[in-house]
Amino acid sequence: MNAQSIEDAIIELKGIGARRIMLQIPDGLKPEVFNIFGQFSTEFDVVISGEPFYGACDLGNFSMEKNIDAVVQFGHSVMPNVVYPVPVIFLEWKLSRKIDFSQVSLEQIDSKGYRKIGLLCSIQYCDQMDSFVEMMKKKGYTIFIGNVDRRMSRPGQVLGCNFSAAHSVSSNVDCFIVVSTGVFHSIGVQLSTDRETFLLDLNSMTLRSMKSEAETFLRKRYARIEKALDARKFCVAMNTKVGQRRDRLALLIQKKLTELGKESVMVTTDNVVPSDFVNMRCDAVIFTGCPRVSLDDQEKFPMPVLTPPEFLRLFGFKQDDRYIMDEIVSVS
Ligand code: SF4
Repeated sequence: MNAQSIEDAIIELKGIGARRIMLQIPDGLKPEVFNIFGQFSTEFDVVISGEPFYGACDLGNFSMEKNIDAVVQFGHSVMPNVVYPVPVIFLEWKLSRKIDFSQVSLEQIDSKGYRKIGLLCSIQYCDQMDSFVEMMKKKGYTIFIGNVDRRMSRPGQVLGCNFSAAHSVSSNVDCFIVVSTGVFHSIGVQLSTDRETFLLDLNSMTLRSMKSEAETFLRKRYARIEKALDARKFCVAMNTKVGQRRDRLALLIQKKLTELGKESVMVTTDNVVPSDFVNMRCDAVIFTGCPRVSLDDQEKFPMPVLTPPEFLRLFGFKQDDRYIMDEIVSVS
């Protein structure tokens, strides 16, 4: 469940009778850890997770701790398609400052005649989208905010592993604007919808087209994954994080590798360590957990690390004309 404040989270925790809880606090909020701990510890026995965590898909090391009744995760929003092993309260982390969208230069979309705009955002900006929509409507644009599937809980939300909000409106829009930090989400929307996608850079308050960055991404990607064509030994990696497990998909991939006459082993991972795969002397990895491991972290691995759609296309099991981003729709 989602909570809007620490007070709300405490009420929810009392409601479920929690006594011992674990807090997951992202790096950006770590300077507040003593303050946050103090607020919860008046009511509960509290332990802070010292492990990194990457999203609502990831409960970190809670299972290593004894008798945890509930987890409170800061900075993310519930994933309805995940069955969590204990109650989890998601405390969305909102920007304290109001973004002044009136400063955004819209020249890039005006010069191309785009009037119908799909708007997407990562969770920390969702609450500020109303003012952006209002401003855009006043300037005569039509704004589309897509519905999300069961991976997310806010309309228009985008994750690195799910672009459902973009798919739901892509046939109606001329282009997308993505409000997020970093380029990964915007490149993903550009590639998975084929609509020109602009990242709203909140530092410069300008729109940055992702077209050429997506092309560069693809060039590098193909150069890397094509090396897997000659691979003999594959590791098929299943991630044990609660919202990243795709065991059925991993088994399907292993079956296909057998059909191809390739050797493969199934490997479980949590926080992925490239040297583990090096030690296993595999020629390529197919990673069924978070797509960002294959796409963002490839440079850390000496061998190609493919997403499932990349594997299926490279080896001829899928005939798509264009690159397919790996999206997590359900976990199993
Ligand atoms: S699977 Fe990866 S991209 Fe998706 S929510 Fe988790 S960390 Fe983010």
